[in-house]
Amino acid sequence: MRGLSTIEAAAVQQAGTQPMLDQVQAWAAINSGSRNLAGLAEMARIYADAFAALPGEVRLLDPTPVDAMEPNGSLKSLRHGQNLHVRVRPEAPVQLLFTGHMDTVFGTDHPFQALAWREEGVLNGPGVADMKGGIAVMLAALKAVEASEAAARIGYEVVINSDEEVGSAGSAALIAEAARGKLAALTYEPAALPDGTLAGARPGSGNFSIFIEGRSAHAGRNPEDGRNAIVAAADLTLRLAAIKGPQLSVNPARIEGGSPNNVVPDRAVLRINMRPRTIEDQQRAQAALDAAVAAVAAAHDVRIHLHGGFARPPKPIDGQAQKLFELVRRCGADLGQDISWRDSGGVCDGNNIAACGVPVVDTMGVRGGAIHSEDEYLIAASLPERAQLSALTILRLASGALS
Ligand SMILES: [Zn+2]
Repeated sequence: MRGLSTIEAAAVQQAGTQPMLDQVQAWAAINSGSRNLAGLAEMARIYADAFAALPGEVRLLDPTPVDAMEPNGSLKSLRHGQNLHVRVRPEAPVQLLFTGHMDTVFGTDHPFQALAWREEGVLNGPGVADMKGGIAVMLAALKAVEASEAAARIGYEVVINSDEEVGSAGSAALIAEAARGKLAALTYEPAALPDGTLAGARPGSGNFSIFIEGRSAHAGRNPEDGRNAIVAAADLTLRLAAIKGPQLSVNPARIEGGSPNNVVPDRAVLRINMRPRTIEDQQRAQAALDAAVAAVAAAHDVRIHLHGGFARPPKPIDGQAQKLFELVRRCGADLGQDISWRDSGGVCDGNNIAACGVPVVDTMGVRGGAIHSEDEYLIAASLPERAQLSALTILRLASGALS
């Protein structure tokens, strides 16, 4: 450590001594897959208790209602868990946002449920890195900041949502509301690489369900009266696949629908994912999608209903974000940690926060790897290390390092 003030050194020391490893082991033993509402409710209660150690108001908020398209084109409401929201000192001069997610990609039917030490200091388990470890890091850093005399200057909101791994549709509005007016945000996804490298720019991501309504008819008697939804869906698939390029990934993922062989099919649903590099690419993709839908509707005389959108806008690194990354790097250097960043192909809530105009570093969580697989692991030594990095970053944000 070098160049730390007395206040900073005390907070850093404090951040490293929190019981993070015990917390991760207890928390990762609870299944909190995005669709396991009972597990998420238990997780939310446990986090609400843990975050009650901070001053301020801890609440569990109902998610925004969300619709999903069924294979027959109808919309069905999709249930999500409650989201945790904490607000501390809203009147303080420096306002920050901290976010994380309580859900994992491993549902109750997944074989990966147990924790195991793979080697000394390397813990394997569902969500240990993504992101139960990250939540422990966030809480440790905030407790250390609260114990510091600098705390009076710092106000913040914490959002821990229940549906990040399925796109945050039930929590995006809460995150956007919490981001308003914040100087900066830190999100506790695991580091992009096991050495601690942060994720920089991210592409956007949009998921679409496209319902095509044709007209059924007898396949032999009067096929000319039919409007074949499967053929229209296939045409639309090819047109959309053709707009991909270096700045836009397009993945037609599924076509559902059809009818018996002697009936012209009148229904199909096409599911597609698109990932634009920049906001301009996203606008071009939306325009191309709208144009292809209109062209196919006209060419096949079918009705098309487009459901979905670019729920994760692209996250470029602008001037303010660059400053925030530089700040984290300097804090790391003062702690003897070598921090850099590189662009990532993935998306997360950091995309949504950046879209609110708030600079965000969204990989402040632990070092580990193989996330979303049964090999997911946490490097236990990174818990205190990353908590110290966060605590120092927060204190420096409070003393004007971004201005
Ligand atoms: Zn995650």
